[in-house]
Amino acid sequence: MQQADFCPIVDLNQALADLLTQARQMPISGKVADYIPALSQVAPNRLGIAVATLDGKVASAGDAAVPFSIQSLSKTYALTMAMQLQGDELWHRVRMEPSGQPFNSIVQLEWEQGIPRNPVINAGALVIADVLASHYSASINSFLMFIRRLTDCQSIYIDPKVYASEQQHGSRNAALAYLMKSFGNIQSEVPLVLEQYFHQCSVAMSCEQLARSFLYLANRGQDPVSGEQICSRKDAHRVNAILTTSGMYDQSGEFAFTVGLPAKSGVGGGIVAVVPNYGVIAAWSPPLNSFGNSQLAMHLIRALAEQLGLSVY
Ligand code: GLU
Repeated sequence: MQQADFCPIVDLNQALADLLTQARQMPISGKVADYIPALSQVAPNRLGIAVATLDGKVASAGDAAVPFSIQSLSKTYALTMAMQLQGDELWHRVRMEPSGQPFNSIVQLEWEQGIPRNPVINAGALVIADVLASHYSASINSFLMFIRRLTDCQSIYIDPKVYASEQQHGSRNAALAYLMKSFGNIQSEVPLVLEQYFHQCSVAMSCEQLARSFLYLANRGQDPVSGEQICSRKDAHRVNAILTTSGMYDQSGEFAFTVGLPAKSGVGGGIVAVVPNYGVIAAWSPPLNSFGNSQLAMHLIRALAEQLGLSVY
């Protein structure tokens, strides 16, 4: 496959360390998520970045090896799995349009008869969780095994404190799931769907592991390290398209405008950006802006993308 024309960088580790030093001078703006209380326990000054490239190398700086709560980043893995299971049928149950609403909004769902706008707002992710829960007898285990396969790391785990906290404060997600059930768009029992969804949000991973695990999306569905075809080329294209239009919550347009990469954000402060034909950038800083995106992680990805000329546009 032809490599795209990216600006060469002699020492990527050094470039990332320099970016982090600059970012540390910036005032910390934003607030660590606390609507799931376990998330508020994380130190706000954590900062890490990792870049995995298609040749299997990983460069990193700062807290890049520290696991944190992946939250909505998990929606990317679950979507990839559900697409393999349901094929085109899936798109009758969830659409592929930006929502223009907050990630956990309930209003749109009622107008639109229980069909979520896309698979990365919470309503859509619950439909995806339902696909997994309805198909597998032990869906949480299958989900964890999928991530372990993508990272080649058996130690990736679900944080039980985050899970308990998600469950205790998950009434809004329960409301979304029951509303969709009333429209016939949830097949399993709602508690089972929520169990899948809360577990997947509670997986802990580091920037290094996240960057490694998304490589198949930068390589047309094939893991460039193991050579394994994780999903079809068409599905990799579709996941990237959804990340571009909806992966950064209600700031996806601005992210495309300023950075120009498919990306997924999570309320744990992580952001993963896919650079087709090059690799993956994962950055982490817990304080979030008003859209729910990590301010400093966005800054780091934007600065690196500019330096290396990574925009897909
Ligand atoms: N577990 C979170 C929730 O459902 C995930 C949200 C996110 O990261 O966007 O509220």
